[in-house]
Amino acid sequence: MTEFDPGAFEHQAQERWQHAFEPDPAGAEKFYINVAYPYPSGAMHVGHGRTYIVPDVIARFWRMRGRQVLYPMAFHVTGAPVIGISKRIARQDENTIRLYRDLYRVPPGVLEKFVDPLTIVQYFSDEYQRVMTACGLSIDWRRRFTTVDPTYSKFIEWQWKHLYGAGYVIKGAHPVRYCTYDENPVGDHDLLEGDKAEVIRFTLVMFTYGDAVIPTATLRPETIYGVTNLWVNPSVTYVRALVDGRPWVISREAAEKLQLQDHTVTIESDIPGTDLIDTTVSHPLCGEIPILPAEFVDPDMASGMVMSVPAHAPFDYIALRDLQQEGRYTGIRPVPLITVEGYGNVPAQDAVEKAGIASQLDPRMETITQEVYSAEFAKGRLLEQYGGRPVRVARDEVAALMAAKYGSVVMYEFDTRPVVCRCGNRVKVKILHDQWFLKYSDPAWKKQVSDQLQEMALVPAEVRAEFDRTVAWLKDWACTRRVGLGTRFPWDTTQLIEPLSDSTIYMAYYTIAHRIRDMDPAILTPEVFDYIFLGRESPGLPERDRLDGMRNEFLYWYPYNFRFSAKDLISNHLTFQIFHHVAIFPKENLPQGMVVFGMGLLNGAKMSSSKGNVFLLEDAVKEFGADTVRMFLVGSAEPWQDFDWRNELVISTKKQIERFYSAVREMKDAGGEPSDIDLWLASRLQEHIRKTTEALDNFQTRQALQESFFGIESDLKWYRRRCPDDRDGSRMLGSLCSAWVRLLAPFIPFTCERIWQELGKEGLVSFAEWPVADEKLINRRIELAEELLLRTADDIESIKKLIQITPKSITIALAPAWKHGVFKTIARAPDKNSAIREMMKDDAMRRRGKAATDAAKQCTTLLHRLPPQVIELIIKDGINERAVFKQAKAFLEREFGVPVHITDAEGSPHAKATAALPFKPAIVIE
Ligand SMILES: [Zn+2]
Repeated sequence: MTEFDPGAFEHQAQERWQHAFEPDPAGAEKFYINVAYPYPSGAMHVGHGRTYIVPDVIARFWRMRGRQVLYPMAFHVTGAPVIGISKRIARQDENTIRLYRDLYRVPPGVLEKFVDPLTIVQYFSDEYQRVMTACGLSIDWRRRFTTVDPTYSKFIEWQWKHLYGAGYVIKGAHPVRYCTYDENPVGDHDLLEGDKAEVIRFTLVMFTYGDAVIPTATLRPETIYGVTNLWVNPSVTYVRALVDGRPWVISREAAEKLQLQDHTVTIESDIPGTDLIDTTVSHPLCGEIPILPAEFVDPDMASGMVMSVPAHAPFDYIALRDLQQEGRYTGIRPVPLITVEGYGNVPAQDAVEKAGIASQLDPRMETITQEVYSAEFAKGRLLEQYGGRPVRVARDEVAALMAAKYGSVVMYEFDTRPVVCRCGNRVKVKILHDQWFLKYSDPAWKKQVSDQLQEMALVPAEVRAEFDRTVAWLKDWACTRRVGLGTRFPWDTTQLIEPLSDSTIYMAYYTIAHRIRDMDPAILTPEVFDYIFLGRESPGLPERDRLDGMRNEFLYWYPYNFRFSAKDLISNHLTFQIFHHVAIFPKENLPQGMVVFGMGLLNGAKMSSSKGNVFLLEDAVKEFGADTVRMFLVGSAEPWQDFDWRNELVISTKKQIERFYSAVREMKDAGGEPSDIDLWLASRLQEHIRKTTEALDNFQTRQALQESFFGIESDLKWYRRRCPDDRDGSRMLGSLCSAWVRLLAPFIPFTCERIWQELGKEGLVSFAEWPVADEKLINRRIELAEELLLRTADDIESIKKLIQITPKSITIALAPAWKHGVFKTIARAPDKNSAIREMMKDDAMRRRGKAATDAAKQCTTLLHRLPPQVIELIIKDGINERAVFKQAKAFLEREFGVPVHITDAEGSPHAKATAALPFKPAIVIE
């Protein structure tokens, strides 16, 4: 026999698993799970590892339960990211080269070839497959494809024909995130920074400045009545530019942005910020006002100019106050224009003073600003002289007035910045014309999605609200791009379908991927897919037999049972895929469930490839072994919780697996006669089987491991203590080993395949039958007796530590029958206090006086500490404590090495004996 050698186990199992996980439609019921496929532009780290290992554990579990399980994988290569990477490598970008050469360890000869984006994709797809296989993922690799395969493009064309036919593909003008370097709209996947940024619509308020205008961007046009000054940054150089033929004074950044938003812009000259300070501007709604200096004005925010409303904007208030404290501009007073409940005349001043804020740099400024804005919007009203209307009405009215009479226009800007493209360029807002959209705003379509979500199993349950919010909030989605890899957009072939829009129903494509691969794309007309996926007949379908095979495959596997993905995809991909499914497939083929993951941390910090805070999955497998990596990733947290990779914890996981391996090898040949303790062990095992199964049914991988690994391990520890001196265990341990190995096989399949062989079992443990709890072996009476014994032994242990004398004897004093009565009465009562009062009305109890009330209190405390199932058993069956201890007398004497006396507490000469309670005898050590 060999020693624990994970590398050898892995090698051996991999050979035996060749083609083992390639399921075809069969008589058995199916279980189809899939994961959001990876974008292979870099090496996998341990965070990715969990994303694929959790579904593998679930796949292995259901396979052992007799299901035909499909777990496929493909690679998403659509879009601009790899093109960006290859461009950066071509121009020798230092950061990119360092990432690929040093972190991902791409050999120099290969790295040179990365100037071709498809080489990157090919290299990392192969690497992904290699590392996933090394992790033991039971994937059907026959079905692997990429989203740029010609046959896949035909499938996407078919999908889009249906979306178009349903009226969900529309054309319009729209502000989008845009990279001027790539000349392309930018999706979430294309961003280095700012993926939460939203496009906000600002009103530009036009102040007259000599022959020019100075536009300031605002979300609160109604506050024009309270403007006391403009803010300009004295250290910024602004520009004078002709915008649509009229001179504007704006920041240089704004000039560039306005060009992307349907304005013609020609820069005429530079204007230093200092030249603007202390000059005046005017607006018909606020009159003439001065321009004041402020360093906080960001030239990269909208027009780069800011109007100041110190009565209602805390930032403006405090900036003005700072200047005035230096004795400057002391003539300016805040001009209130809104009254709002809970604040005085000058809400900004109130808020700043109440919070005790001394400086504009105080981090709480953002919060109090939000509070003032929200209060004014919800409950504020303009003063009578400004029309007296509620803020929420006045805002739109003033905006409309400004647009109609005072030259205001709209400018789009992000709510948070910076927003940075993968190419390193700052992303801006551009208004795209003739842009194609998916009409996610369509109410009828949203309704269908909501209805389907209602019927789906969502794990964990809390994510349902987030899905509902996403469906309600989703707007039309720009679905084409000019640059990138992918499928040409059928109605404008200069464009491509963008990455999040060509990856919504590919789970259906997996069912046929291996059968369609070598077909001629030219014959894959929409009619062909209509037949495969919708069963629609049309004349002249080619290769009818093959199509029937694919139709059969689709009908067998679809709908999928569960889709797995990280929680940051709820707001896009996971919701989009439901939209697309309901638009295309009939009811019976709609998705059944989703499992949403938490995030991965590395030593407490967020994993990030670009920041170098990652641990590569392959390195982890090499260093610790695949089973250790698997067990740690699925056992340290439930899938939806965040997990934290720490090497020292991973090392202890490895030791646990080794312990399991040697424990089984020690036990498997035990041949002693079974005794009561074997019945106990068998009974406990049934409970662990039941609970492990239940946990995995609910995707609780951590809970399942607690039961199947640590639960059984701690039982065995007790079992060994309870075994008579003359033997190591009985022949019943053999069947425990068999069940234990099978329970752990989904988690640590390599070690389990090895042990399965050592147990002399036929075939692969990966396909062995999942253990089923045998009700006949459950023996509550024995379990309760051992529970009592174990707790008492623990008590003796702690008392021994406490008194620190060498004991000569141990006395166990048992509680009298009347205390058992008290215990049961209180345990059964829904209201413990009134139960005690009620009980004390009884004559016999009253006569016991303080002893009775003390016992009632102690029983109540004890009841809080005992597990509910133990209490239930005590009430139901009762327990003969004397018999339990009498039988275990020899065991206790062996354990503690002194004579053990069992006695009744009442009548005992020991004062301590009065403390005896049911299930907690008094212990006297002498
Ligand atoms: Zn870019």
